[in-house]
Amino acid sequence: MTKFTLDDFLNDDDFSENTRLTEFRPEIINELTKKPTLKKGSDIASEKIKEAELLAQKPFDAATHKSGYVAIIGKPNAGKSTLMNAMLGSRLSIVTPKAQTTRNRVIGILSDEDSQIIFLDTPGVIEPKYKLHEMMMGYVQKAGEDADIVLLMVDATDKETEMELLISKMKKFRAPVYLILNKIDKVGQEKASEIIERLQSQFKFKDCYAISALERIGVEQLKQIMKTNIRVGPPFYPKDQLSEHPERFFVTELIREQIFLLYEQEVPYSCAVEILQYQETNSMDYIDADIVVERDSQKGILIGKGGSKLKKLGTDSRKEIEAFLGKRVHLKLFVKVREKWREKDGFLRGLGYGKE
Ligand code: GDP
Ligand code: MG
Repeated sequence: MTKFTLDDFLNDDDFSENTRLTEFRPEIINELTKKPTLKKGSDIASEKIKEAELLAQKPFDAATHKSGYVAIIGKPNAGKSTLMNAMLGSRLSIVTPKAQTTRNRVIGILSDEDSQIIFLDTPGVIEPKYKLHEMMMGYVQKAGEDADIVLLMVDATDKETEMELLISKMKKFRAPVYLILNKIDKVGQEKASEIIERLQSQFKFKDCYAISALERIGVEQLKQIMKTNIRVGPPFYPKDQLSEHPERFFVTELIREQIFLLYEQEVPYSCAVEILQYQETNSMDYIDADIVVERDSQKGILIGKGGSKLKKLGTDSRKEIEAFLGKRVHLKLFVKVREKWREKDGFLRGLGYGKE
């Protein structure tokens, strides 16, 4: 099999003129802002799993099959998880209105008959404050180095100075960097074009796109562009695999998401979720999970008066997990205090936050 490099494709003029765009043009934004048709029901993970199983049974042509890694990088709250979920049509990464909810690098795998794109959804780019933050930044760097393509996501509603600071951190990546300006539903076309033109003068982006991950504007087209720009190669993962992480990882993410929705201020940031036991049966999954906090006072807040808050957390989490797994779940939650867990290396590694 002939080995191509990514550059062979990027420099090949015959290679799909429509998607190989080297500069920002307003007509491209217009093209990208056509709303894709995406049925709501496809968001159900269990449906996705069935589709994937069918796909895994189909043979692929090794001479033309393409594969590659795409890292989505940006500040907390830029919409990285939303974009990945929109691309995958399944909730693999948690999405909340509060910043810094993605601590791990989450991998989503998008397969079709002739391609496989592996998405690295990274925690937001932030200045290290705790040891945990340093590790998060380690993931960002690693994702940028591992990837074939980097999507730098910028929130169109951010301050200009913030956008520029982020771009100043982007110098070290080997892979081509695409600027993805998100949330254009909030700022409109004209402003979006203005921002892109300004940021383009600061960095040599492979290309620039304006999208709305939430409204799914430009998402389907972006998917096609990624597919065009990865290289020929076999799939890295079986086609029925939707993520590198086991289901239990998503369960902890779903519980953490509910914690962020249910509790105020600093409390959610002090919580880690660990699965104590995960037992599968045909009809039901039995899950026991620990919520680890730093102080007794946080434990009290989590539990609430007469256990009311924890009860609600349990019910809400269970519903989310059931929807995700497509089966019934029995969930038991416990709250544990472990002082200063965020400063302790060993414990972080145990949770999977450490270096690989
Ligand atoms: P992440 O931290 O970069 O992963 O950001 P999330 O995907 O968790 O999104 C953060 C917040 O921004 C959530 O409230 C999303 O609903 C919201 N959001 C994401 N994309 C868009 C968008 O295109 N338009 C608007 N208006 N909101 C968005
Ligand atoms: Mg996220």
